[in-house]
This record gives sequence, C-alpha cells and structure tokens, in this order.
Amino acid sequence: MARKGRATISRYGERVKAGICYTCGKRKVVPGKRRCQHCIDAARKKSAEKREAWREQGVCVHCGKKRQAGFVRCQKCLDTHRRHIVNVKTAIFDAYGGAWCACCGEDTREFLTVDHIDGGGLRHRRELARTRDGREGQIAGTSFYLWLKRNNFPPGYQVLCWNCNFAKGAFGICPHQRPKT
Ligand SMILES: [Zn+2]
Ligand SMILES: [Zn+2]
Ligand SMILES: [Zn+2]
Ligand SMILES: [Zn+2]
Repeated sequence: MARKGRATISRYGERVKAGICYTCGKRKVVPGKRRCQHCIDAARKKSAEKREAWREQGVCVHCGKKRQAGFVRCQKCLDTHRRHIVNVKTAIFDAYGGAWCACCGEDTREFLTVDHIDGGGLRHRRELARTRDGREGQIAGTSFYLWLKRNNFPPGYQVLCWNCNFAKGAFGICPHQRPKT
C-alpha cells in the first residue's frame, strides 16, 4: 500500500515538474495552473452540470445535502462560505487601504463595501453576476469580491461605507466631500 501511494505522488511530482497536466498526463499545463486547458474546461463543465442538477433538485448547490431553509446551501456549506467571504473581504480591505471608509472613516466592517473609483461598479457587478450563473441576483456582491481576489486586487477601487457608496452613485459625489461654505 505504501509503495502504491509513493508511486502516485512521485508520478504527480514528475508531471508538475515537466509542466504536464496532472489530470490527463498528456497536454501541457496552462501557465500558473496544474492542468491543461482541455482538462480545466472539462472539470468546470462537469462541476457546473453537477451544481445545476443540485439546484434543480433543491439540495445544497455545493455538496448535494439537505438545504438550510431559505438558502441554496446546507448549514455546513453556509458556514464555510461565510468564513471564506470574511477572509476574502479582509484581504480586499487590506489591499485597498484598510478596513475603513475612504470618505467618512466608518470602520464597522458590516457597513463597508468596495467602490469602483471611476464609477461603473454596479454595472460591472451585474455583468459578473450574469456571467457566473446567467442571472442577476444577490450573489453579485460576493462574486465581485471573489473576482477582485482572483484578479490580484486590480487598481481603481477603494473601500467605502454603504452610505458614501450609495451617495456617490446617486449624486456623483458624497455630501461629505462637498466643499463647505
Ligand atoms: Zn489535461
Ligand atoms: Zn452543503
Ligand atoms: Zn463613509
Ligand atoms: Zn462620505
């Protein structure tokens, strides 16, 4: 048994070293990934189909177990997901100047969001939401955070509280920034 395990690991190691896809062992990996484009696409398609089936069956879209009432995930996956999002948000706030509003200094994390400095944030979020699962919905905020992380925190964003973010979107400038007379 031990020998078999070691053989698997060494073959995996050899593939990684040679830049060969660890799934099929044939094609070259996509730079920075451990699989070839073909296997990445195949895996993505397979997991999308699985999630779609779970969505239709009304079970947790992540693991296929019984859903928590009112959610698309089970309690365990909800907890994992929330922890993951909290971590991602922390990394994002760190990357964009700290966990406080760049306008008013609000530092209650629950009130903080990420603002597209040049505007267009909402449109971008809608696009992301659509590309991810074909519809607009409440996952938009979350998928936007994950997108920022996946893209190594691109410049052009800042941390704002919901109030300042909303005011900027509605009036073009937050009332906090209006020159005092
Ligand atoms: Zn492959
Ligand atoms: Zn689950
Ligand atoms: Zn603010
Ligand atoms: Zn403000």
